[in-house]
Amino acid sequence: MQNNFTIYNSLSRQKEIFKPLNPPFAGIYVCGPTVYSNAHLGHARPAITFDLLYRYLLHLGYKVRYVRNITDVGHLENDADEGEDKIEKTARLEHLEPMEVVQNYMNTFHRNMDQLNTLKPSIEPRASGHIIEQQEFIKLLFEKGYAYEVNGSVYFDVLKYNQSFKYGKLSGRVLEELQSNTRELEGQEEKRNSFDFALWKKASPGHLMKWPSPWSEGYPGWHLECSTMSIKYLGEVFDIHGGGMDLQFPHHECEIAQSTGALGHESVRYWMHNNMITINGQKMARSLGNFITLDQLFNGDHPMLEQAYSPMTVRFFILQAHYRSTVDFSNEALQAAEKGLQRLFKGLETLEKLKPSGISTVDINDLRKKCYDAIDDDLNSPVLLSYLFEGVKYINQVNDGTEKLNAEDMDSLKNLFHTFVFDILGLNAGSESGRDEKLTGELMDIIISLRQDARVKKDFATSDKIRDELKKAGVILKDRKDGVEWEKE
Ligand code: ZN
Repeated sequence: MQNNFTIYNSLSRQKEIFKPLNPPFAGIYVCGPTVYSNAHLGHARPAITFDLLYRYLLHLGYKVRYVRNITDVGHLENDADEGEDKIEKTARLEHLEPMEVVQNYMNTFHRNMDQLNTLKPSIEPRASGHIIEQQEFIKLLFEKGYAYEVNGSVYFDVLKYNQSFKYGKLSGRVLEELQSNTRELEGQEEKRNSFDFALWKKASPGHLMKWPSPWSEGYPGWHLECSTMSIKYLGEVFDIHGGGMDLQFPHHECEIAQSTGALGHESVRYWMHNNMITINGQKMARSLGNFITLDQLFNGDHPMLEQAYSPMTVRFFILQAHYRSTVDFSNEALQAAEKGLQRLFKGLETLEKLKPSGISTVDINDLRKKCYDAIDDDLNSPVLLSYLFEGVKYINQVNDGTEKLNAEDMDSLKNLFHTFVFDILGLNAGSESGRDEKLTGELMDIIISLRQDARVKKDFATSDKIRDELKKAGVILKDRKDGVEWEKE
């Protein structure tokens, strides 16, 4: 297991060498989706970021427990614990049971995640399946003196907590400022302070998703599920907690307060946050008409899209940026990513066909070291990709005969590419587009061998017909002395 993998800890605001609490075990908790609408571009980024982390920790030999929750209850429309439950709102609009809404959008989310070739989490707990655990957590907060009840709803006492622990250390928010900023929000008369947050909400008449509790028939506050389920499945102290930067406040700040309040100590050792995606420089929002779901992206069915983009193109595009940088989506940028990915796959294809020659003139060990240094540096995927493209350059040079590689180095280069491109970056293998590429290659092998058979029998009418028909379909055959190559026009 390598010991120089560093990750940026949002809490300490610096890069730290990753040292899990109980090696070889490593625990990751990532905030998953609230399943009330189709998965969109915004979901792709954390999914791919933490998939890269998960894959790399597995590659390093850790036994990883990767927990990603499904929020299926209690996420209200605004951060002040007011407004309708997001899932119930969709249920009302679509005339469905709330759990039908959850099932529909969870299915879509899982399908999209498979298309993006993300590995499935080890555990995917749902908030609605952990109501009792959440109530027990609230009881613990009552015992510690950080919870209070008003009219059947329970709130977290931030001021009280702040006397013993510092509230706001993840987001850098200061209580006094929070108080003045949020004073004008309505419906907060139940709370002692505007920055207090709900642990349990009493259900209003007509509310569908509700459970009995010692305080009222109601439902848990959104932040509570993540404190409860992360500790349940990963322990009172666990290694990594991830999510989008937009979750730092209030969601993760409140999680820290709940967990620390209940346990008397912090539960998370490394906080990791991915940056956001903008579209043509704008924030993504339904009201701006630039809200693109993953299905629309994959089939090109959106007014802003000039074409469909394969899931692997989207994955490659996201990996081209460091996870802490912003990413701006545009057709031009996606088309460039599509070309870049093709160049990488083409290099891999050439690599499989390379023949060793003489004494190596290229230093593969040096290239390997650079690749590991890049990924060890807080998952620096863009720098890693730049070294893989350096590798593609070598592959082409060896293919041209301008550089040489002996058999051992060639195996080492193949191993390097397979490890980084397939296993760690998760590009191609097992994905829909990857399977398509593989199938295309196999079909072309069959067609080329049929044409060779025809030529051996001097049936030139058939062999020419195959070549001409392929050309019409945009595939060019090239007769070489050691066989036939093909390429797309
Ligand atoms: Zn969460």
